[in-house]
Amino acid sequence: MRQPIIHIDMDAFYASVEQLDFPELRGLPVIVGGAPEGRGVVAAASYEARRFGVHSAMPMAAAIRLCPRGVVRPVRMQRYAELSRNIREILKSYTPLVEPISIDEAFLDVTGGERLFGDAEKIGREIKERIKRETGLTASVGIAPNMFLAKLASDMSKPDGFLVVHEEEKDDFLAPLPVSRIWGVGPATEKALNRIGVNTIADLRKIPREILRTQFGKFADTLHNLSRGIDERKVVPESLAKSLSSETTFPEDVSDLDTLRRALYEQAYRVASRLQRKGLHGRTITLRVRYADFRTITRSATLEQHVNTSTEIYDCTRKLLETKVEMKGKRIRLLGVSVSNLAGNIERQMRLPFGLNGHDEGGEKRRRAGRALDEVKRRMGENSIDRGDVR
Ligand SMILES: [Mg+2]
Repeated sequence: MRQPIIHIDMDAFYASVEQLDFPELRGLPVIVGGAPEGRGVVAAASYEARRFGVHSAMPMAAAIRLCPRGVVRPVRMQRYAELSRNIREILKSYTPLVEPISIDEAFLDVTGGERLFGDAEKIGREIKERIKRETGLTASVGIAPNMFLAKLASDMSKPDGFLVVHEEEKDDFLAPLPVSRIWGVGPATEKALNRIGVNTIADLRKIPREILRTQFGKFADTLHNLSRGIDERKVVPESLAKSLSSETTFPEDVSDLDTLRRALYEQAYRVASRLQRKGLHGRTITLRVRYADFRTITRSATLEQHVNTSTEIYDCTRKLLETKVEMKGKRIRLLGVSVSNLAGNIERQMRLPFGLNGHDEGGEKRRRAGRALDEVKRRMGENSIDRGDVR
């Protein structure tokens, strides 16, 4: 199979679930998120609302100004999570190599599945139909030789899309696209590329790697490869992951400590939720910082115990940021948090010597408080949390 990677992405997921469960909302501009009176943020918008320019992560008040007849619905995270689990079960019936990248998106590697299920295209069609039949929701499906191209294919065919990019088509497929379609190219990098005359991916291919290196450091190699449709990453199922991570590329470079702390908290929360869902704990916490000049550093700490709450992860990364990261006169473009040195719940308990739990009352209380906080936040929905930065 030469294009064994399938990317599945649900269309306007939260908003579509609202329209599924409340038929009176179908055909209406539905905006899911926090109340406009508070400082609510849009978590998702139906395609009817997107026509007015409403998009996720925008303040709710701004969304209502653009789309005054929009129907605002609160986030019902438990319901979305339930449907997400059903969808994941469908995906897992084709291969164990399923890598979820958010609640409504996943990659599958179906290499070697031909004998049982047919080629990737057949599997992709079947998955799309089963998701529709079994949940009532539409997914967009991209199929390609690697993860980068598969995600682009599903993005570009949305909504209700289905697109296969073959190895021999990838150059033509990529050439006319704006460079912002490349993973890791946010608005700041896009501007830097535009300044040297690079607007499309075809333009980018003409710039020698050495020239890119002088401006973008190590990221130049990524730019060079992705512009040619080369992506060597492998689909890693979460159960086999050695680490879990989350990162944010800021729309503008940031030097303000409060903004950085807030971003860290959101990432700590995201990583903590995934650890908790998987029944995992981690001991090593790593902070990744990319400066405006693309220099990237990492700072790690290994804790005495395995942890999995957002408070614990946040406390550690905040300390790393405040004590181990050169900030004077610097601007930051990207922040990432990862947790590694993972262990499951049972393994972790077995590793603790007898009695230790009892001596660590303060720590245990703190962990309980952290878990409670995460639970509350989950129930209230992830309003304050923008949806991953994978692009
Ligand atoms: Mg989606």
